[in-house]
Amino acid sequence: MSQIPFLDLKSQYQSLKSELDPEILEVMANAAFVGGAWVARFETSFAQYLGVPYTIGVGNGTEAIWIALMALGIGPGDEVIVPANTFIATAEAVSFCGAHPIFVDVRADDYLLDTDKLEDHITEDTAAIIPVHLYGQPADMSAIMDLAIAYDIPVIEDAAQAHGAKYRDRMAGSYGVFSTFSFYPGKNLGAYGDGGAIVTSNEGLVGQIRSFIDHGRDGAGGHKLLGFNSRLDGMQAAVLDVKLRHLDDWNRARQKNAALYNELFAASKIGDRVRTPMAHSDRTHVYHLYVIQADERDALRSYLAEQEIASGIHYKFAVPFSEAYADLGYTAEDLPVAHRLQSRILTLPMFPELTEEQIRRVVDTIEAFYLSR
Ligand SMILES: *Cc1c(COP(=O)(O)O)cnc(C)c1O
Repeated sequence: MSQIPFLDLKSQYQSLKSELDPEILEVMANAAFVGGAWVARFETSFAQYLGVPYTIGVGNGTEAIWIALMALGIGPGDEVIVPANTFIATAEAVSFCGAHPIFVDVRADDYLLDTDKLEDHITEDTAAIIPVHLYGQPADMSAIMDLAIAYDIPVIEDAAQAHGAKYRDRMAGSYGVFSTFSFYPGKNLGAYGDGGAIVTSNEGLVGQIRSFIDHGRDGAGGHKLLGFNSRLDGMQAAVLDVKLRHLDDWNRARQKNAALYNELFAASKIGDRVRTPMAHSDRTHVYHLYVIQADERDALRSYLAEQEIASGIHYKFAVPFSEAYADLGYTAEDLPVAHRLQSRILTLPMFPELTEEQIRRVVDTIEAFYLSR
């Protein structure tokens, strides 16, 4: 019995080696380590791919959100609305610019920000809304943009898990004033280290952000503003530019894998003890993660581990229930859906190279677990 991993970046590298290795050597030969031609090229290709005018490479996806908030002048006294179920980085970025994260519950069916509960959380101090396209499926951007426009509140899309996903006819990441991406290695478009991008159509803010991420440089040897260091490096950009050419194929492979999981679960004897992820017909889900809801989740997870099948929990705690945010005092009554999901969600292996045989073994093993109870 062989191990089924959670994702397989080593086999992906082998399939890319002949394309990637010469590019990385070129970056070194040209000493284009930080910024430079490869970063500029990737920024252009990624903007074209998304159908947006500007992308700016930055150090990672967390700083991308933080810098977007700073560019909007958000800070102490401001409130920023975020979904309760997301990676902690979405809220961290809000906290680190001095603003307060305001958590809104998610929906039980798609795990995304519940737009029916959004308006109740808007106050005079609401300075931004950050929808998260969680697990690879875009949030309900139509409902979110309608409210944002009505209240004149900027939207920053956290698209760290949704490279290549679409909401209706446009790419996820092309709706907000800003959108932000992470290129952490395990993301659908992942670098070979850390990386991130800020995407915008607001030309007026581009120069300021470019200066901010490079110590406030003015391009003439001086420093025009108090900045920071958050730059994308040349090798990461070279890797990303090569990998971007494969992104749509990889996303299609993920969708095919998800469809097979769904089909096998539906045909199994597991019944309603497992709920497969729902995908809206007006969006393309790119399955960064394949997240089910499972009865007896922890026992199932141990059983899978015994059978050498990797799994994950995204996330063990909804952000407001993590220890880091305990001082905010959120309770289960405040966010009932996010609270309940914590003990039910389970992430199954999902990556483009996953085979049909592996998927069958995962579902068969889950079926065996429930039939033995
Ligand atoms: C990965 C991720 C981030 C943070 O990206 P890093 O590059 O790891 O800093 C932010 N938001 C979400 C939803 C993520 O999944």
